[in-house]
Amino acid sequence: MSQSVTSLQGVGKQTAAQLATLGISTVDDVLFHLPARYEDRSRLTAIKDLNVGEQALVEGMITAAEVKITKRRTLVCMLTDDTGGIILRFFHFSYAQQQQFQVGTRVRCFAEARQGYHCLEFIHPECQFIREDKPAPEIHAQLTPIYPSSGTLHQHLLRSLARQALQNLVLIDPFPPTIQAQFQLLPLAQALQTLHAPPVTVSTADLQAGQHPAQRRLIIEELLAHYLSLRRLRQQAQTYQAVPLPAEHALNSLFLKNLPFQLTHAQQRVSAEIAHDLQQTHPMQRLIQGDVGSGKTVVAALSALSAIAAGYQVAVMSPTELLAEQHFRNFNQWLAPLKINITWLTGSVSKKQREQALNALATGESALAIGTHALFQEAVTFQRLALVIIDEQHRFGVEQRMALRDKGAQANFHPHQLIMTATPIPRTLAMTLYADLDISVIDELPAGRLPIKTVVIPNTRRAEIIERIRQVCQTGRQAYWVCTLIDESDALQYQAAEETARQLTENLTELRIGLVHGRLKAKEKEGMMQAFKRGELDLLVATTVIEVGVDVPNASLMIIENAERLGLAQLHQLRGRVGRGVVDSHCVLLYQSPLSEIARTRLGILRDTQDGFVIAQQDLSLRGFGDVLGTRQTGTMRLRIADFQRDEGLLPTVVEIAELLLKDYPETIQPIIERWVRVQGEELVS
Ligand code: ADP
Ligand code: MG
Repeated sequence: MSQSVTSLQGVGKQTAAQLATLGISTVDDVLFHLPARYEDRSRLTAIKDLNVGEQALVEGMITAAEVKITKRRTLVCMLTDDTGGIILRFFHFSYAQQQQFQVGTRVRCFAEARQGYHCLEFIHPECQFIREDKPAPEIHAQLTPIYPSSGTLHQHLLRSLARQALQNLVLIDPFPPTIQAQFQLLPLAQALQTLHAPPVTVSTADLQAGQHPAQRRLIIEELLAHYLSLRRLRQQAQTYQAVPLPAEHALNSLFLKNLPFQLTHAQQRVSAEIAHDLQQTHPMQRLIQGDVGSGKTVVAALSALSAIAAGYQVAVMSPTELLAEQHFRNFNQWLAPLKINITWLTGSVSKKQREQALNALATGESALAIGTHALFQEAVTFQRLALVIIDEQHRFGVEQRMALRDKGAQANFHPHQLIMTATPIPRTLAMTLYADLDISVIDELPAGRLPIKTVVIPNTRRAEIIERIRQVCQTGRQAYWVCTLIDESDALQYQAAEETARQLTENLTELRIGLVHGRLKAKEKEGMMQAFKRGELDLLVATTVIEVGVDVPNASLMIIENAERLGLAQLHQLRGRVGRGVVDSHCVLLYQSPLSEIARTRLGILRDTQDGFVIAQQDLSLRGFGDVLGTRQTGTMRLRIADFQRDEGLLPTVVEIAELLLKDYPETIQPIIERWVRVQGEELVS
């Protein structure tokens, strides 16, 4: 354990408390609290060489100074050197400060140059006055680090702490010399020294881009720490026991015989991978990646059957009620003929239903539970849970998965885990991010899916689109009209949908039109969807609630209104509602002008590709990894210096180093994890 930060000069009780809010409590923490950026005050710039938008240090003489009173009181000075002049402008100043800017005074100023009316300006520059009776202040010999701060802590304090910490540096470099040499890793001390006090020869552009070898050294260590901690989770899981579930059982063939289709090769391969895992005596930890419509649900259902046939229980957890409802419907349709009854548990079931559900699960009377995170609340107990299936895992964090897994834990026994996601991410990234899991990919869509033709059209051509609906529905096909608002919970959303439904009903009198939105009771919603599915409705007007949950192959036209408001992933999901049948499908992305640049890009991507993998890749670069991948990073993986997006290229190196450490230097692993990974869940740091 490193020394307390209070051992450094200038840190009293109060400062220590403020430092704690930045996560700094030890001297080591100071060392790893790295600058967010740097300023170059290492050399004087001639005024004529200043560039707008660039920060610079300038020295000159005050040649004019006056307080102007226009809209607000402003102190305006002219600073002149041999090459030109620049205006210094202050909006807040005391009388004493004003007095310092006498004509003839020499002053050194640091600020960003801005374009003023007549010439360049510095707004509120930092100033050092140079007096003849004193030696001129030294010019910094290094780039000036600017630390992330809470505002109450001054930069000069943070700089002083870093300086002190560097002076007594006693950090142990976790990397053995052979690894350092092989991967050209700077020694830890040197990397920290460079980042806290970069010599002026270091390029600020490199530092800003995270490309400097000193940064690379720390980035690799941080990514390694996360990777190793996930690897350890996986190793740990392998020390737990699980009930082995036989792959061959009576329900299997019955189920497959009842299915109205044949499994794709990809579904068969992934099912076999799962079946293999389930036969082991330690818990499966498998992630299935598969695009929208690739048929993950049926694979999940097959795996559930293995547990049920062996007399155990299964829990299927979804992040939203709607997703849960869809699973309930699908599983019910497939499993009811096998006489398997399903327990439904979400946050919104009535008290009585809830009691029944809890009872059915605790006594083992019910073999299958489907629901939301309500499934792993405290009151829920399973009699003999052997398999946990989690859909859309990116919306859940590692901790939540652990919580559900622990539900079924008895002594050293843990349930198997199957995790499904429709967010395909690049392979190297998946390997790192999901290093605690085995990964299967369903990389094939069921046969006969036709491409969906997508067009992007302004809202002003609405009338044309309405005609199009009329034509399509007259040929016996069905259509969706999706109304969107930014906020799903917004009451306005259902009003907008009602209004649209009314207008469409007026214009399309011969069509049977239904409306679904989040305000309907589950029963009503279900009824409406079933009516659409049976072909009793031609057009379904809906809010984004239908993003998941409807599967109507006869529907071949989808209109998404205000498509510019939705993200790529959501649009892709919605569009996936059509193109499930045997005729050509179309998707119309209606937008409201003017389109922002990013919205234009998004809609263009969607028009040009239907490949979920490409779309996810683009989504990552448009929105950033944190948003797309959800809690995984924002929760457990709070990165301090690395950035998955920027540093993706380093991941193979990280994996390679990890393998070497695991094999030859296992003693280095714990210190690396401890330094970088902080979680409440003791499991990651134990
Ligand atoms: P997702 O992977 O997006 O969860 P689903 O499991 O909801 O996809 O499957 C989408 C649709 O494809 C469902 O109607 C499902 O019944 C159907 N489906 C699944 N597998 C096949 C298959 N092998 N052949 C034909 N249709 C299939
Ligand atoms: Mg699904």
